[in-house]
Amino acid sequence: MRRAEGRQTWGIYVHIPYCVKKCAYCDFVSAPSAQRGAEMEDYAAALTAEILREVPPLRARWGAAAPIYVGGGTPTALPAPLLTGLLETLRTAAGMPEECTIEANPGTVDAAYLGALRAAGANRLSLGVQSFDDALLYGIGRIHTAAEAAQAFHAARAAGFENISIDLMYGLPGQTLDHLRSSVAAAVALAPEHLSVYGLTVEEGTPFAAMQAAGRLDLPTEDAAEEMYDLLVAELPARGYARYEIANFARRGFESRHNRGYWHMTPYLGLGAAAHGYVDGARWANEADIPAYIRNVRAGTCIRTPEDGARTREREMEEYAFLALRTAEGIDAADFHRRWGRDLEEVYGAVIAHYAALGLLRRTAAGAALTEAGMKLGNEVFAAFLLEA
Ligand code: SF4
Repeated sequence: MRRAEGRQTWGIYVHIPYCVKKCAYCDFVSAPSAQRGAEMEDYAAALTAEILREVPPLRARWGAAAPIYVGGGTPTALPAPLLTGLLETLRTAAGMPEECTIEANPGTVDAAYLGALRAAGANRLSLGVQSFDDALLYGIGRIHTAAEAAQAFHAARAAGFENISIDLMYGLPGQTLDHLRSSVAAAVALAPEHLSVYGLTVEEGTPFAAMQAAGRLDLPTEDAAEEMYDLLVAELPARGYARYEIANFARRGFESRHNRGYWHMTPYLGLGAAAHGYVDGARWANEADIPAYIRNVRAGTCIRTPEDGARTREREMEEYAFLALRTAEGIDAADFHRRWGRDLEEVYGAVIAHYAALGLLRRTAAGAALTEAGMKLGNEVFAAFLLEA
């Protein structure tokens, strides 16, 4: 048996691969919940077995996990007893987390459901609202209206959730700057603790990709989408939500611990079909086919596929740099040295100087961070941090 190694921050991500209905833009792994009632029970049983097999050894090495994040898919597409049962298993196996987030679709929860989640230990809710305009919601295939989103928010507050995040999207078909301005106002009026914003990307294999190929997707122009981005990054901080990462805004003290762990490359266990994990420097993806996942967990066979083959130290270092640069505080030179045994200046000094001269990076007391302009052109800057190119 492995000896305890002392406290190490680590997290748990649990994937629930079911949704009531597929949204037109989404390529996440999820199956329609209505046709899979019996399978969902088997899935919860397999996930319980995976939790009990994988979590205790890491807890013995590193102590209780913090945080836990249950995403999807739509976790709340599961019947409440299945989801609360999973939460109870997680808490028993991993310890009581400081942050336990559940993603919820406003069209799937009511007061009783939210009360049961809170009672089972969930203390943070991430509501996928996307827009407060009913026509836009309909157009992207969401199952809820703006009023139902607000109702779900109020029900979550009444159930005792003191930490709620709202997701909003921009660049939607038919969306104007005024639509987005109204959605931001409606979201802020609810006073959530956290907001995440995503620009629409048309993913291969989705209904939107087919509509685009047929010339039937009325997307905003690039300039209009850029104006929407500018509106979000100006408006949300002005309303008290500090931008702590490229796409995430929070009131002070409500930054997502789960997200922070991901950007700082702390280890996390990915559990469930299609979940990804990162432990001991290795990344893997779990079996994505739901029946195969259930069968293999039952049989005790391996469900993990290592990601991108052999990972070199350089690949890890690059990834560390990209992820840290996504955050407002950027790369911490002391942490970089502690993790990689290399000096940030020696490895990236020339790149930092080049992009600082262009106004896309700035030197900070701790190291280097993207400027506002750099956040807009993040991918261009990240590419320059590739070491093996
Ligand atoms: S609810 Fe979320 S995961 Fe499910 S289809 Fe829509 S966007 Fe994708």
